[in-house]
Amino acid sequence: MADRILTGIKPTGQLTLGNYIGVLKRLPQMMDRGECIFFIADLHALTLPIDPQVLRQNTIDLASFYLAAGLDPERVTLFLQSSVSEHAELNAIMQNYLYMGELSRMTQFKDKVSKMNESAIGLGLFAYPVLMACDIVLYDAAIIPVGEDQVQHVEITRDLVNRFNNRYGKILKMPNYELRKVGARIMSLSDPTVKMSKSDPKGDIFLKDDMKTVRKKIMSAVTDLGCEVKYDPENKPGISNLLTIYAALKDISIEDAEKEFVGKRYGEFKTVVADTVVAELEPFQKRYQEIVETKAYEKVLRDGAVKAKAMAKPTLERVQEAVGLLKI
Ligand code: ATP
Ligand code: MG
Repeated sequence: MADRILTGIKPTGQLTLGNYIGVLKRLPQMMDRGECIFFIADLHALTLPIDPQVLRQNTIDLASFYLAAGLDPERVTLFLQSSVSEHAELNAIMQNYLYMGELSRMTQFKDKVSKMNESAIGLGLFAYPVLMACDIVLYDAAIIPVGEDQVQHVEITRDLVNRFNNRYGKILKMPNYELRKVGARIMSLSDPTVKMSKSDPKGDIFLKDDMKTVRKKIMSAVTDLGCEVKYDPENKPGISNLLTIYAALKDISIEDAEKEFVGKRYGEFKTVVADTVVAELEPFQKRYQEIVETKAYEKVLRDGAVKAKAMAKPTLERVQEAVGLLKI
């Protein structure tokens, strides 16, 4: 069996350029490499308060953006996490094999709760890595392409697989994460020390922004002291972030990107970055619009759920049997 590649995005907010560079842009490459399983992590989106209508709209947008990015439904299984009940069923079992201590050390949990009132922190936010581990192991996925923010979650999945297999035999497949070389962490344009995130928008470029806004956001992105266009994330986080965006969109190395801007002023550099982002997003948005209008995502998601269920069910049954749940 070819290695399965699995990736998911939460419909928590409007997709950002970070999601595009991190996942969507790499979609065609992933399709060429192996069997792809892509899902919309809608159950995960409930871990923070979200309006039902907004969640529905985000889900439609996300499915449409996947298709606009070139997802070929003949080669890829695309589905909603909530349409495949095996995720929740496996979760009910696996929550007994990850421990409070390790879950409370998760950076994403600590980050998210630092801004919240204790009484408003749902159990689901704390237990998020359990469900995410289930998302991965259900499909015997081997490769999990991620941005830096998700590495820890794949690591805890690996711990779970080790723990479970040591106890019950070789039941679950061990996944590996794969970090992108360029663009694993696109930063906010207004504060390049924090990640561009859809659930905490700050200096984000949204995939639905009109081109005038995109240009404006890039031209007014925070830059750094000095005047050299150089990659130095510590001392020049703003310029380094723009260089990363440029290199990722052009599919070139950071070094090659740097070479193009030797002797150029910040203003000239930003104009080229803005042109590049616009050239990429404009046709992408057109494709997205068409997909939203024709509702092409509906059939894809329905068929995807059937295919996903056929893969997930045998894994769930393997686990149920291993732990001693009687099948009658
Ligand atoms: P949220 O704020 O809800 O966590 P997010 O923008 O971080 O939203 P996720 O749904 O958590 O998005 O992640 C979807 C995918 O996008 C993951 O593979 C993640 O690593 C990647 N990703 C998210 N933000 C960035 C970023 N700033 N740069 C590169 N990749 C990113
Ligand atoms: Mg995230």
